[in-house]
Amino acid sequence: MANGAALLEVRDIRRAFPRPGGGELLVLEDVNLSLRQGEIVGLLGRSGSGKSTLLRLIAGLSEPSGGSVNYLGEPVLGPAPGIAMVFQSFALFPWLTVLENVQLGLEAQGLPDSETRARALKAIDLIGLDGYESAYPRELSGGMRQRVGFARALVVNPNILLMDEPFSALDVLTAENLRTDFLELWNEGDLPIKGVILVTHNIEEAVQMCDRILLFSTNPGKVVSEIKVELRHPRDRNDPAFLALVDRIYVEMTARRVEKLAQGPQRATLGTMLPRVSANLISGLIEAVAAPPYNGQADLPKIADDLQFEIDELFPVAESLQLLRLADLEGGDIKLTETGKRFAADETDERKRIFARLLIRYVPLAALIRRVLDDRESHAAPKSRFLDELEDYMTEEAAEETLRSVVSWARFAELFSYDDDEQMFSLENPA
Ligand code: ADP
Ligand code: MG
Repeated sequence: MANGAALLEVRDIRRAFPRPGGGELLVLEDVNLSLRQGEIVGLLGRSGSGKSTLLRLIAGLSEPSGGSVNYLGEPVLGPAPGIAMVFQSFALFPWLTVLENVQLGLEAQGLPDSETRARALKAIDLIGLDGYESAYPRELSGGMRQRVGFARALVVNPNILLMDEPFSALDVLTAENLRTDFLELWNEGDLPIKGVILVTHNIEEAVQMCDRILLFSTNPGKVVSEIKVELRHPRDRNDPAFLALVDRIYVEMTARRVEKLAQGPQRATLGTMLPRVSANLISGLIEAVAAPPYNGQADLPKIADDLQFEIDELFPVAESLQLLRLADLEGGDIKLTETGKRFAADETDERKRIFARLLIRYVPLAALIRRVLDDRESHAAPKSRFLDELEDYMTEEAAEETLRSVVSWARFAELFSYDDDEQMFSLENPA
């Protein structure tokens, strides 16, 4: 096969999951991509954008709701031999040695024992675990364990390696070490693979490793842009061209997010997931935007930088301000509303009153809980009462998260309280 020939074609993939209460959650829509011989292609997107879901579809571990995956021209209809996965962390069997754990990757192939052993030893050697064959996982560092994961994937001599955030569970130095080793093997042609798809949320990692980067949007996940990386290997993170590319991708991702936020739901409904953001963070951002040099209006990426936040950490806070009408988002800026400015100028007690009013007005879930508690003679209600209702709109996990958020906001506003041991909501100061 010549370099540049298509290994993999993903066409018009759509994937939806049924929601527990009916309806569906659309996770992937119109996803198109190809992987050619000799390429490392990166999928760069936020957590929850459907990257792992897409990798599972490509590997044939789950079925798309629409569209197709073609591997070497044939549709992928089940687990595809020739496509192997590396995960964020590996479930290594603690009672098996490194060698035995790697041999497991070959178990399904029915090879003679001697061949299984020889191939496992070769994979172990390749990935830098020589000498650790008879060690048990507990004797290995996190980085070494992840190398066992790589060996287990490589031992089958796959054509395509799918990597799902394989470095993100490792500390910075260990991750860098493994990345560099992997790239060196790849660039020397020492790996048995012909193409790689790397899922990551780390821009620098994508620029360091990939030939092409596909930017992935959220809700639903789709490829929104493609960036070619033409820097020579080994790539130097301090090279101005490297830094410029990282910046460009960062700006593109941020601009998209701010734009999307600004078009976000103008009004929360009972089915709106609430971001997990503390009232303290909300107050903190309002104060920062109100203060000089911003005086009520700030560029989001800039203020994130000033406050030493990752922009990703600041987005949910900005989203909360928007939801509560404490600020508007427009053109990449966050701008305090009149209420937001008043909030910034007030003392804690008055802030709590403003917050309580906004919760009742703009967060239907908070209003519902308060109304139920007001109506009941006991002024108490079990968590399950609201969890059931939320699960008509979202997964159980999302419902739990949303309840946790509303509880923390209501605590600050002194709107109602919640006892986690008893799983009960109650009013401290019934009306
Ligand atoms: P990423 O890997 O980009 O973080 P995922 O692919 O893990 O994203 O998840 C994307 C979305 O799909 C999430 O909202 C997740 O809750 C949802 N999801 C993933 N798998 C399932 C499933 N089996 N059932 C229901 N929802 C799922
Ligand atoms: Mg994932």
